Amino acid sequence: MRQKMAAGNWKMNGTSAALAELETLIQGQHAATSELLICPPATLLSRAAELAAVSPVAIGGQDCHAATSGAHTGDLSSDMLKDAGATAVILGHSERRADHSETSEDVAAKTKSAWSAGLIAIVCLGETLAERESGDTLSVVGNQLAASLPDGATGQNTVIAYEPVWAIGTGKVPSLAQIAEVHDFLRQALTTRFGTEMADAIRLLYGGSVKPGNAAEIFATSNVDGALVGGASLKAADFSPIIAAL
Ligand code: PEP
Repeated sequence: MRQKMAAGNWKMNGTSAALAELETLIQGQHAATSELLICPPATLLSRAAELAAVSPVAIGGQDCHAATSGAHTGDLSSDMLKDAGATAVILGHSERRADHSETSEDVAAKTKSAWSAGLIAIVCLGETLAERESGDTLSVVGNQLAASLPDGATGQNTVIAYEPVWAIGTGKVPSLAQIAEVHDFLRQALTTRFGTEMADAIRLLYGGSVKPGNAAEIFATSNVDGALVGGASLKAADFSPIIAAL
């Protein structure tokens, strides 16, 4: 049985004042049974991890470099994230693929680095609107999955997030049938490559304009094990009902 998961991606949002939202979130989650994760900007990671230390909320990074150290100005290694208190890291988010030209091969290298630091890799995939409209969604996400996920992926070290690019931050959400089609396809692709035991263990999150009002129906959709949430994770008042819907 896969444990449900809600992960919040704060992106490039939040200064010290935002930690009050994390505190409020934590206060409401003492009886949480799902896996909860907040990925704040790197500047808040250590303090967020201290706040969340004895709580059901884990703290994650939003990216890491593939190398363990070296001349990479502005980058952070997976060991640094771990040292700051992270237990997971989002990799291959479409904003990083677009803004930093990250390829699936880059994502695979980062994923290996995350694993070596003992971090859970949350590997993101998703099609653009043009790719969906041309009927290429399954081949796009299938290729991204194959190339972004190294051998050695397990249900313990990896979570997959399906995030249609056109649904991120737009208020547009695929139909439940479209979400189910992709999640069923991803589960089958994992089964073919890794076998049933691994494929049954790995969490498949949906991401893209998840809100309190649509979370329950999305979570009831085939092969959806939770959500990766952007905008609605910034406020405890929005993220808490999403968690409650898991
Ligand atoms: C995201 O950035 O991962 C995301 C899903 O954003 P939003 O929930 O704001 O669409």
